[in-house]
Amino acid sequence: MPTNLSGRTYRNMEMEPLLNTREMRALQLEKLRKLAARLYEGKPFWRDRMKGAGVRPDRIRTLEDYGRSVPVFDKVQRRELAEACGMDMTRVVDATIGVPMENLVLMAATSGTTGEPTPYPMTARDIDWLSENLARMLWRIGVGPGDRIVHAFGLSMWLAGVPYLQFFQRSGACLFPVGAEGGTEKILKFASLFKANVLACTPSLAEHLAAKAPEHLGRAVGELGIKRLFCGGEPGAGIPEVRRNLEAAYGAKLSDSGAGFGISCDHPEYQGMHHVADDTVLFELVDPETYEPVRFEDGARGLPVFTTLEGEGFLWFRETIGDVCQVFTEPCPCGATGFRYRIIGRCDDMLKVKGIIVYPAAIDGVISGFTPRVTGEFRIVLSEPPPRVVPPLCLKIERGEHVAETDLPALEREIQERMKSRLKVTPRIQWLPPGALERSMNKTRFIEKNYNGK
Ligand SMILES: [Zn+2]
Repeated sequence: MPTNLSGRTYRNMEMEPLLNTREMRALQLEKLRKLAARLYEGKPFWRDRMKGAGVRPDRIRTLEDYGRSVPVFDKVQRRELAEACGMDMTRVVDATIGVPMENLVLMAATSGTTGEPTPYPMTARDIDWLSENLARMLWRIGVGPGDRIVHAFGLSMWLAGVPYLQFFQRSGACLFPVGAEGGTEKILKFASLFKANVLACTPSLAEHLAAKAPEHLGRAVGELGIKRLFCGGEPGAGIPEVRRNLEAAYGAKLSDSGAGFGISCDHPEYQGMHHVADDTVLFELVDPETYEPVRFEDGARGLPVFTTLEGEGFLWFRETIGDVCQVFTEPCPCGATGFRYRIIGRCDDMLKVKGIIVYPAAIDGVISGFTPRVTGEFRIVLSEPPPRVVPPLCLKIERGEHVAETDLPALEREIQERMKSRLKVTPRIQWLPPGALERSMNKTRFIEKNYNGK
């Protein structure tokens, strides 16, 4: 098991040994009952939701009671609330936080694909517990005092932007707030000038920086001295081939984070992300379509539903953020505590081929495994609005630079077989020459719409 400079296994030796244990669940229940009572007393929006579902905080006796009774709060309901508030975000925030508005000191927001932002309001106490969780994550990957982190997530309004910069400081490392907006050249130059040894950004930006380093620095990114990549914001860092390529290019270890408060460990085989925040964030699973609770056991799949147990402004009260996950509750071979979760795909991206659920991220995972025989770029061609796909699932895939046309039929069969065994779907493949598809960082880049409308 990795240990930090101090020789301590975990940053928080009181809480982290208890992650994913019975004692932890007792602590979660105690905090949950307090939170539910606080919201019932003080916040009409949450009281109405509880009342409407027939919930009384004093009748929540187990975590299962809570999961069965308090309704899931999702993006659609958030949008309905925003509409009911005449799109006045201050009213939305006021309704959904757990404290008075004047307690807020920081606000982040994701823009979302539908236009209206999802706000992340924070009080000073929220910043405190969030910082503790980020510091735990960094401790586990050996980042602390003396380390220099180039922060290259998008800074403007994103949660991983200015708020993360603040949270990261709890680790004791020194932060360089270049931001994704700073651009490729500036990120690389600052990393080089100040001898950064940690790079925090999305995996696709890390790939882009690796490709551009020779042009901007006159040397390969592997010569920068980066020891650790802290990646998040996209599922790429959990895909074995993406990890392997990035680790080789930088000569660094890659850590995957996101969709909750988890960080992947350094076990040679990806084990998912260890959730380090049980004492402040309750993580449940529900069915992505019915929202019925899914039993939290090793290998279970579902949509995570979060409750921030000490949340004030940063309040999730059975809220979903849309990533579908698989969880692993058995001990990790790395020896570290915390159940693990792996992102399977975005709930919004879900496709159903003859009733079989497939996520573009999973298709990406299979196709990436065939590089360099394919470039890795592909499109899923949809002839009607998702999620329903009338079979066959049509893919456009770029062949690799050195693949002859005559080799394509055999490669096609191989890809079809792997998809069939991993995803239970056999696609129809249309081959494209390398470079034919537009390169994009957009989250919806895998989809090509062959229909009108949204
Ligand atoms: Zn592990």
